[in-house]
Amino acid sequence: MTVINATTVDQVVSALREYPQARLVQGGTDVMVEVNLNRARVHDVISLRRVNELRRWHVDEESGTLRIGAGVPYAEMERAPLCLHVPALGEAARTVGAPQIRATGSLGGNLGTCSPAGDGLPVLSALDAIVHLRSADDARDVVVHDFMLGVKQNAKRADEVIVAITVPLLVGFQGYAKVGMRNAMVISAASACLVHDADNGNVRLAFGAVAPTIVRARAAEVWLAERVSLRNSMSLDGAIAREFGQLAAKECAPIDDHRSTADYRRHAVAVLAERLLLRAAEKQGRDE
Ligand SMILES: Cc1cc2nc3c(=O)[nH]c(=O)nc-3n(C[C@H](O)[C@H](O)[C@H](O)COP(=O)(O)OP(=O)(O)OC[C@H]3O[C@@H](n4cnc5c(N)ncnc54)[C@H](O)[C@@H]3O)c2cc1C
Repeated sequence: MTVINATTVDQVVSALREYPQARLVQGGTDVMVEVNLNRARVHDVISLRRVNELRRWHVDEESGTLRIGAGVPYAEMERAPLCLHVPALGEAARTVGAPQIRATGSLGGNLGTCSPAGDGLPVLSALDAIVHLRSADDARDVVVHDFMLGVKQNAKRADEVIVAITVPLLVGFQGYAKVGMRNAMVISAASACLVHDADNGNVRLAFGAVAPTIVRARAAEVWLAERVSLRNSMSLDGAIAREFGQLAAKECAPIDDHRSTADYRRHAVAVLAERLLLRAAEKQGRDE
């Protein structure tokens, strides 16, 4: 087994060209589970841990965006100053595993694994994030919805590394919530991220763990925008929020498995969406 300890992205993509079967490892919190359970035969490894470029983030005031390196750990996302820029990402990061997992697990790894239960992914979907990929030959940007293809399937080529993710900086409420078999240290049985873009007058809603990949509840988003003024305001009652949640849940395709039943998942996402929308309206009311 060859282990390459890269220190730059250039070294990573050169190594991928030389060892096309090599496995990229950032935090190792997914890869090592696969290895320990004998689900993956890892011959060569390219470690990303010492690639500082992957562990940086910065705000671009001009474009109103935040670029997060693929290797930034959840422990950094859950705390200020990073969580102040993207509160939903902070909330999602706080729900991931235990402190040990958050100290090393990353969005690059969440996207690399592409489990429908990945906690970072509904947030990236609701924010219409862009995934930045590099290979030895080129660089390309992929909208996160085109990147996530199915259960543990994504659009990354074998010769590519995810270098960063860009999300917009928005004015308005952002929230993430998940349901599992216990309150902490739990993989989602159902999850939801709701973002209110008050400047552009829209609400975006994404669900996790209720379909082969993350679901954007686009029909419910349109339904809400036709009924409620969302630009710099949001006045709604409980009945609207409940109907919004129920409509959104219809856009999911959950299954029965060891974590939950399809029926419970459908119920759970309806309630999560309703509660997140009410929280968004409450925040907007306070801010006005
Ligand atoms: C005890 C435990 C609890 C957990 N709890 C949660 C939880 O609550 N929520 C949750 O979402 N996840 C959870 N996980 C799963 C895991 O922590 C996350 O998916 C995490 O985001 C993986 O990040 P990583 O850096 O450790 O990835 P790694 O294990 O290093 O990599 C995962 C995959 O992504 C690829 N990859 C990594 N970085 C890149 C990159 N830059 N470019 C291209 N491909 C890359 C790897 O090749 C691999 O295929 C848990 C895991 C454990 C062991």
